[in-house]
Amino acid sequence: MEQMMDAIVKPVAGAGLELRRVPVPEPGPGEVLIRVHKTAICGTDVHIFNWDPWAQVHIKPPMTIGHEYVGEIAAIGPGVKGLSLGQRVSGEGHITCHHCRNCHTGNIQWCKDTVSVGVDRDGAFAQYVCIPQSNVILIDESISEEVVAFFDAVGNATHTALMFDLVGEDVLITGAGPIGIIAAGICKYAGARRVIITDVNDYRLDLARKMGVDAAVNTAREDLKGVMKGQGLLEGFDVGLEMSGNGMALQQMIGSMRNGGKISLLGIGNKPVTMDMNTIIGKGLTLQGIYGRKMDNWHQMSYMVQGGLDLTPVITHRFHYTQFEQGFAAMNSGKSGKVILDWTE
Ligand code: NAD
Ligand code: ZN
Repeated sequence: MEQMMDAIVKPVAGAGLELRRVPVPEPGPGEVLIRVHKTAICGTDVHIFNWDPWAQVHIKPPMTIGHEYVGEIAAIGPGVKGLSLGQRVSGEGHITCHHCRNCHTGNIQWCKDTVSVGVDRDGAFAQYVCIPQSNVILIDESISEEVVAFFDAVGNATHTALMFDLVGEDVLITGAGPIGIIAAGICKYAGARRVIITDVNDYRLDLARKMGVDAAVNTAREDLKGVMKGQGLLEGFDVGLEMSGNGMALQQMIGSMRNGGKISLLGIGNKPVTMDMNTIIGKGLTLQGIYGRKMDNWHQMSYMVQGGLDLTPVITHRFHYTQFEQGFAAMNSGKSGKVILDWTE
């Protein structure tokens, strides 16, 4: 008899999500079934919940959503070696083709045929999720499951923050969403001198302060140049992490960099952005696009947390999965960091 489970499903094209009974997936050759313990809500899930223009193009209902999770191995498909039942795991959400040029050379973050868990195929907001062995990430028992629940997002932050050297550098982060706040913690941990974060949302700037930033600036009413002077920046920021997707924020970042500064671009906006090419060229800036995570980021983030990086300040809400609508309401309110859903009984 087919086993059934609870899952948070986008049932039809339109706003909202539904808790449904769906079949437990069966691990095929090379696949692993994971019993989900905790999940976290990502901005992508909010796009899907709200059924915005991005979701209308990318999501094909009915499907189970979600891609930030931690759990344990519940079943192993034929041919899987080196894993055993009960091991604590999370999963890399981008399932890659294994044979394009980038996959061949270990740069899976640039795979040209990537398939995303919870976007292009059934996701992890369910009692069980099934993924290929190559995407299974073993997680040490010493790390809190609540933090591992959002390691996918920590991976985005790690990838962006560690793209350029940080030791003794002054860093500007535009956008104090969960990923910007996590990145701020990573930059301080990795040895940056000053970490200054901007947003237009005071609740989120307060969360960033709890993560230990040197200054959290509401650019809707405060002057960033004045804050830079107060923090002892002489020529501008050495490193910029764009994490808002907002064109005004990027413009301000470009204007605030020192000559030769380096910018990592993670934020994805909903409209094209205009850039001041003359300033980019005149200052000799480097701009690097960041997509997803590198597999090595999974090791780095585990080791940073074991080394003392405390990511718990970014957690603001906890709900049982049956209360998922309250979780999405918190995300949509703008007054949230990470929202955790518990899937254990
Ligand atoms: P988020 O939407 O929660 O946070 C973005 C923040 O930017 C918000 O707090 C918002 O108030 C702030 N903001 C808006 N206008 C601003 C301005 N002018 N100046 C400064 N801040 C401003 O997003 P998140 O979940 O933290 O993710 C960060 C960004 O990264 C998003 O754009 C997301 O779409 C993107 N993202 C990209 C990838 C990738 O692979 N490239 C992966 C995950 C997320
Ligand atoms: Zn590939």
